[in-house]
Amino acid sequence: MTVNGEVSFWFDPLPEPGPGLPGDAEADVAIVGGGFTGLWTAYYLAKARPGLRITVLEQRFCGYGASGRNGGWLTNSITGGRASYAAAGKSAVEEFQAAMNQTVDEVIRIAAEEGIDADLLRGGELTVARNPAQWQRAQAFAAAEAQWRGADVVLLSAPELAERLQVAGGLGGTWQPHCARLNPVKLLRGLLRTVRSLGVQVFESSKVLSIEPGLVRTERGEVRAPQIVRATEGFTAQLPGLRRRWLPLNSSMIVTEPLGPEAWNRIGWQGGETVGDFAHVYMYAQRTADGRIALGGRGKPYRFGSAVDADGATPEATLASLTKLLREMFPAAAPARIEHVWSGTLGVPRDWRASVTYDAGTGLAAAGGYVGTGVATTNLAGRTLRDLLLGTDSELARLPWVNRKVQQWEPEPLRWLAVNGLYAAYRAADAQESAGARAGAGTSFIASVADRISGHR
Ligand SMILES: Cc1cc2nc3c(=O)[nH]c(=O)nc-3n(C[C@H](O)[C@H](O)[C@H](O)COP(=O)(O)OP(=O)(O)OC[C@H]3O[C@@H](n4cnc5c(N)ncnc54)[C@H](O)[C@@H]3O)c2cc1C
Repeated sequence: MTVNGEVSFWFDPLPEPGPGLPGDAEADVAIVGGGFTGLWTAYYLAKARPGLRITVLEQRFCGYGASGRNGGWLTNSITGGRASYAAAGKSAVEEFQAAMNQTVDEVIRIAAEEGIDADLLRGGELTVARNPAQWQRAQAFAAAEAQWRGADVVLLSAPELAERLQVAGGLGGTWQPHCARLNPVKLLRGLLRTVRSLGVQVFESSKVLSIEPGLVRTERGEVRAPQIVRATEGFTAQLPGLRRRWLPLNSSMIVTEPLGPEAWNRIGWQGGETVGDFAHVYMYAQRTADGRIALGGRGKPYRFGSAVDADGATPEATLASLTKLLREMFPAAAPARIEHVWSGTLGVPRDWRASVTYDAGTGLAAAGGYVGTGVATTNLAGRTLRDLLLGTDSELARLPWVNRKVQQWEPEPLRWLAVNGLYAAYRAADAQESAGARAGAGTSFIASVADRISGHR
């Protein structure tokens, strides 16, 4: 039997939540949300200012959100793409890219320094093309990436791809070095242990009901703090006044049982690269440290009224479609049992670009909107929030995602219609491309129209 939900495969077993907020309290900095954003922010603040009273408030247990459910790609990707920051100027964007590249190194460094074993393996990021339209996109992508300092993308021919990975129908792909595979919950638990040892107070089972300048109201009492960080990502829409800020988009994953040596001999994947593809509704995968394939993609994209899943419970249809994709791509893994399926929620801004914000007047800060690339970006957000909250004038505080104005999403039912319509269009485009209907003709017309409407590429 495939386990469904129960937050994610990475939590086994589920943790007992730690102590909740015992009543009204005071802090210098209150952080709402115990995911990577909240914990990295707490970590860097505590390191920079020992003695600062930092309180983290988490509704369930740390890692309950996307941070405990993701694909474990520690990648240098700029959410929304570099081109979306073109108005900031090319050199500012290249500095941003350099900061993201360094962020991958930083997480690996801190894990080593703090004795956190997170199954980190730096094999780079491999993106495969499995039909002619995808292969055209791969070539165009590699050519466009070559224009940017720090992108470091290499185009791989079919034989070069096959040396790394035997994927059915592989026509070639791209690879870049700034990515590592990890076990997200091992990283998160190590970070939680570390921040607690630095004196940060972390209260779990403490749902925040509202945030206003100087005051966080929870189900268990109030916390007064001159500086408050909101790090609630895909759950943000549930807070008063923030319903249209970041759209909660679903992503779902499956994991196989460990594969035997014979299957691994057929698949290759000795380098431990993270693996994605050039489909419009793309997939992402990792070879886990214990020899499984964990593979994710878009399930039911969006629930009406910005609702979120119940502890990662996933529709059977999503389990079936991800399983089909895994077996198509890796026939050698077809006999393997699917041990677990789960889902999680991404935070998606209207322009698909993340942000870090701080208003010194109100003391309110926030970070998020990372879409599917927050595992590394949350670390950069944590260091940036440290500088903003402590008033340190740094290069990080001047990166183009800082204090960016974020546009609101449309009200319902437009939001529901737009997002589900967009993904229906992308699925149709993928089906058309893999049926070879426009073989050699590049991106399907349907997908080009969807891209233009959504404005997210
Ligand atoms: C299935 C899936 C796969 C992904 N794969 C990747 C990947 O491979 N690489 C990558 O870079 N990114 C990936 N992501 C995205 C990445 O996981 C996120 O961007 C990142 O974890 C966001 O961290 P966060 O701390 O900002 O948010 P979260 O981890 O969602 O944390 C928010 C926390 O706030 C808490 N909270 C919310 N509301 C309240 C409240 N009112 N009161 C108290 N607490 C509250 C939540 O319980 C949660 O713990 C994936 C996401 C998903 C869902």
